[in-house]
Amino acid sequence: DAGEAIRHIAKLKRKDKERPTACEVSSRGENYMSLWAPWKLLEVHWGLLYRLEENKPDILQLPLKDIGVVQPEDDPELIQRVCGVLDVNSFEVRAPGLPSHAEHLRLRAVYLQAALMAHHCIANTHLAVDDNFIITVHASVHISQGQPIFFNYTSPLQGTSERREHLHEGKYFDCTCSRCRDPTELGTYMSSLKCVKCRGKGLVSPMEALKENSPWECNHCGHYYSALVVHSATARGKDLLEDIDKSTSYTSYRH
Ligand SMILES: [Zn+2]
Ligand SMILES: [Zn+2]
Repeated sequence: DAGEAIRHIAKLKRKDKERPTACEVSSRGENYMSLWAPWKLLEVHWGLLYRLEENKPDILQLPLKDIGVVQPEDDPELIQRVCGVLDVNSFEVRAPGLPSHAEHLRLRAVYLQAALMAHHCIANTHLAVDDNFIITVHASVHISQGQPIFFNYTSPLQGTSERREHLHEGKYFDCTCSRCRDPTELGTYMSSLKCVKCRGKGLVSPMEALKENSPWECNHCGHYYSALVVHSATARGKDLLEDIDKSTSYTSYRH
């Protein structure tokens, strides 16, 4: 998949000779140090040993060689560092003009400044990446001078357990933000279930939001549910959602 994506990008770049990308500029030696220095300052995750596919050197080794950064075979630690930086700091972007059969192809891009934004499950920004891979960070609420700028690296529509799992697996940290710590997710009850005991009068939320095995409690009748019961109900609900026939449009429902 990565090979196909790279060939697609190369084709786009050939069509668009007038606008060299940062990599092309650096390969001509004009701007290499100014790009590489901030890249080296980005956070790296060292916990893993990245397994490089030896038969696919075009994914990482060749681009690195191309821009003259290293002779990759001579410097395995640097390759690991590059993988670590990509892993923790990159954003998912879509290549413009991908044919419909290649919709699944996703690219990962590192934006040196945007990568410095900290995560919060209630972000105050959202991102847009245009067809030239230029990223724009929009404020989604008013941000006063001196306030931190946050980006949500997960989906805001996921519940706490899903978000925290995603961040743990993909970004290697356990989020303890105000939304994750609050069993009601700041009054949104995003993860809560309707209580069957009191026939839906109450909502069931975890007693301790950050504890994976915490019992859940109804806020109306006080009935307890084990984490296992809640998680299997949620998983069942998700399966049903996935199986829904989404081809029926809203307008045809109205008739
Ligand atoms: Zn959080
Ligand atoms: Zn209840």
